[in-house]
Amino acid sequence: MKKIKQVLRLPLVLLIFSMAVGCPGTGQTTDADEGVAKLRREIILRFTRQGRLTPEVRAKLVTFTTSDQLRSYAQQQDNAYLDRLPVDGRLCMKMLKAVVDIGPRFSGSEGMAKQQDMLERYFAKTGAEVSYQRFKARNPLSKQGVETVDMANMIVRWHPKRTRRILLCAHYDTRPFPDNDPDPNKRRGIFVGANDGGSGVAVLCALAEKMVDFDSDYGVDMVLFDGEELVYNSRRDPFFLGSTHFAREYAATRPTYRYAAGILLDMVADADLQIFQEINSRRMAPEVVQQVWATAKRIGVSELRPNARHEVRDDHLPLNEIAKIPTIDLIDFDYPSPQKRESYWHTTADTVDKCSAISMAHVGWVVWEWLKGLQ
Ligand SMILES: [Zn+2]
Repeated sequence: MKKIKQVLRLPLVLLIFSMAVGCPGTGQTTDADEGVAKLRREIILRFTRQGRLTPEVRAKLVTFTTSDQLRSYAQQQDNAYLDRLPVDGRLCMKMLKAVVDIGPRFSGSEGMAKQQDMLERYFAKTGAEVSYQRFKARNPLSKQGVETVDMANMIVRWHPKRTRRILLCAHYDTRPFPDNDPDPNKRRGIFVGANDGGSGVAVLCALAEKMVDFDSDYGVDMVLFDGEELVYNSRRDPFFLGSTHFAREYAATRPTYRYAAGILLDMVADADLQIFQEINSRRMAPEVVQQVWATAKRIGVSELRPNARHEVRDDHLPLNEIAKIPTIDLIDFDYPSPQKRESYWHTTADTVDKCSAISMAHVGWVVWEWLKGLQ
């Protein structure tokens, strides 16, 4: 995707942080070293953002005096928490690792073919009807402009007879190169796209487990878009090839089923997850934004922030503009965090270790609850 602009930063996180941690210099004097206090602050901040810092947990955390104790307690808390969540965060992480282990998965690559093979088998096994929407796109590297790349959107249908449908989507291609890497020598290196390319796929894989039993008037289509960023030069090459093709086909063929709404998942695995309302989504699909954020609030997923921050051009644009499907983009563009200057976006640092099972499970949970609440 392409970022257009961002609105002013709000110091909300810092405020929450200072409320959660309290004033520095009070209380703890028994820590073995500075590192312990820092680690404790990080854990408290993470638990606060994830909406699960209870007074008991906080009280317990201040009793530990070594980093090992803190880490093992946090790990134990994470495990117990993952057990309680309705969407399987461990499965998200397993699928994320599986796609990232394939390596680069840009359009037309061997990695993309391997990924398609793996996901096709996975979704079919969970009970979906899997098909491809194939098309050709001009290869941006073609000198004469005649060479093409074979593209395929993967369409994963649940309850195909239901004519009122919901679109859940993500791109599954990765950027050809980490061209945003801070080190110029790495900008033609390997980009594995864990958060950007893998995370949406991983969340959909976990949601797939629930779909056969999804009792609703609505059917669900999960669509994995190809060619979101077969981009070597951002000013020259077109984005959103797969979603544009999908939107045009839908508008031109007018199938008997209709999509009532859509959610696009992009960069949803960040360990420091903070999803602000995306400005184009608010403009084009305000009702869906409202419903999804109300759902997050109801179930206590506090990583969905109630304010706008970024305007992003992404696969939701053709879906809204061409297909007229009100679709929002759930995206955490601050990777890792609005408080940090550095960004892992389109760099060699976009790897699995920056991602979190809990973040993905939280996003999946919001989508699942939203689906269940549709009238
Ligand atoms: Zn990207």
